[in-house]
Amino acid sequence: MKWCPRFFLVSLICLWSAVCGVAYAATFERASYELAGNTDYEQARHIYTNYGILLEDEAGFLTTYAKEYSIDYLYYTLELFSGDYLKGLSSAYRSIGKVLTICVLAAERQSGSTTAMLGQFDVDAAAIYLYFYDNGETGVHGVRPGVIGHELGHVTYYAFIEVFNSIHGAFVEYNDGYAYAGDDWLSAWDTGLHSGTFAEPYSMKNYGEDIATIFESLVCGAGSLWDDEAPLYYKAVLLRDTLNECLPDSRAGIFQRFES
Ligand SMILES: [Zn+2]
Repeated sequence: MKWCPRFFLVSLICLWSAVCGVAYAATFERASYELAGNTDYEQARHIYTNYGILLEDEAGFLTTYAKEYSIDYLYYTLELFSGDYLKGLSSAYRSIGKVLTICVLAAERQSGSTTAMLGQFDVDAAAIYLYFYDNGETGVHGVRPGVIGHELGHVTYYAFIEVFNSIHGAFVEYNDGYAYAGDDWLSAWDTGLHSGTFAEPYSMKNYGEDIATIFESLVCGAGSLWDDEAPLYYKAVLLRDTLNECLPDSRAGIFQRFES
């Protein structure tokens, strides 16, 4: 065959599609495999089908060990966000070859620490880690709706990171001139000054936590979010309007709660 540049170009494009096709198929193969690894396959399948989220709970925390604390809270929170919202998020991750995952793990409380890590979002793995602690006297300290809502706030932020970067200036303008305090967030908090501006002390750490704690408050129904004279209210309005554009089919999911 006579070599021609046009043919070469077409071949390159085909090769690229073939590679992408393989990656896409592998993603779903992994999803099926991981679902099969769960203690309760049907439950994991239900969550994957209705919310687009892969559940990894090989130890059965949600279905056996701490069931009374957990599975109902998980469903409650996922429903508050809505299937359309979460499927929209998961397809944003799928478009970059990642499967949005909730991974449930046991963890030891760190000795000497006054706070326990309950949730974490790893953006590279597109995975929310929810930790269970056995605290002896107080029993199992497990998943709470606010923790799941907080992490889903981070998931949302990273799914639309460029959009959130573009509203950064408008959002922090509502912070009454207060700068984020980084690791000094707790000492920066003054209830009298900040409660109408930030959802909780941890909100003062940085922009990402400010946003995640608003999601947490939406789930818990707490704080001055509903006070239309407070700056916090207008921060939530900005998030709602932004997400209405990012996820138009979901009518901003969790933010419907804010409007009611
Ligand atoms: Zn956070």
